[in-house]
Amino acid sequence: THFGFQTVAKSEKVQKVAEVFHSVAAKYDLMNDVMSFGVHRLWKKFTIECSGVQKGQNILDLAGGTGDLTAKFSRLVGETGHVILADINASMLKVGRDKLRNMGIVGNVSYVQANAEALPFPDNHFDCITIAFGLRNVTDKDAALRSMYRVLKPGGRLLVLEFSKPVFDPLSKLYDLYSFHILPKMGKLIAQDEESYRYLAESIRMHPNQATLKEMMVSAGFTETEFFNMTGGVVALHRGFKF
Ligand code: SAM
Repeated sequence: THFGFQTVAKSEKVQKVAEVFHSVAAKYDLMNDVMSFGVHRLWKKFTIECSGVQKGQNILDLAGGTGDLTAKFSRLVGETGHVILADINASMLKVGRDKLRNMGIVGNVSYVQANAEALPFPDNHFDCITIAFGLRNVTDKDAALRSMYRVLKPGGRLLVLEFSKPVFDPLSKLYDLYSFHILPKMGKLIAQDEESYRYLAESIRMHPNQATLKEMMVSAGFTETEFFNMTGGVVALHRGFKF
């Protein structure tokens, strides 16, 4: 049946995402730097700047993986604040936890294995939630946005950093060439994993564009929703508030 097909397709996606991130966890940081020519650091820096995070706050870095944003938030919130790095994937969480501990980041960070679609946190709990390069891997994005809205405090903000749709046609074509042909080859060369990086390119193409994601955030309840394009729309940062 139609529903039967959807169920199979959904569980296949969950399985695929789990396999991809178990497989890339160890080489994830290296590949991020190589694939984005280091520019992911600037995209993340801008995300931190837009977060408005202050000392003493409660932050959720969802789909936090190897913890780049968590490390920065840990410094910003200080000893009186707290950051939760949550991720569905045990291998990514382990790489993230080991990395942050080696950096001496302890005391105000905890690690939780959780699915973004059904967050195991109380209502109205976080001052800020980030999900960086995570939402496109989530099967039911609307459920995930509703779950994030629930656990955010009134006045709190959500930041979604994600690949998006390039705004100029020539850039779009160049980007397709890069992601579908060069990226999988780089994955093969560096991480001996062509298949995972082919998935990455496909998941980027399937992800909702800027306007659609903004609408999805509004439907989940967020207000004052806006987005900022970076690198010509290759990446966009969406921000919304709970009032
Ligand atoms: N946020 C990190 C960063 O920007 O470097 C990691 C991003 S990584 C591309 C995507 C992460 O999303 C992976 O660690 C993956 O395990 C996680 N993820 C995928 N589906 C998820 C879900 N349903 N709930 C929570 N995390 C999920």
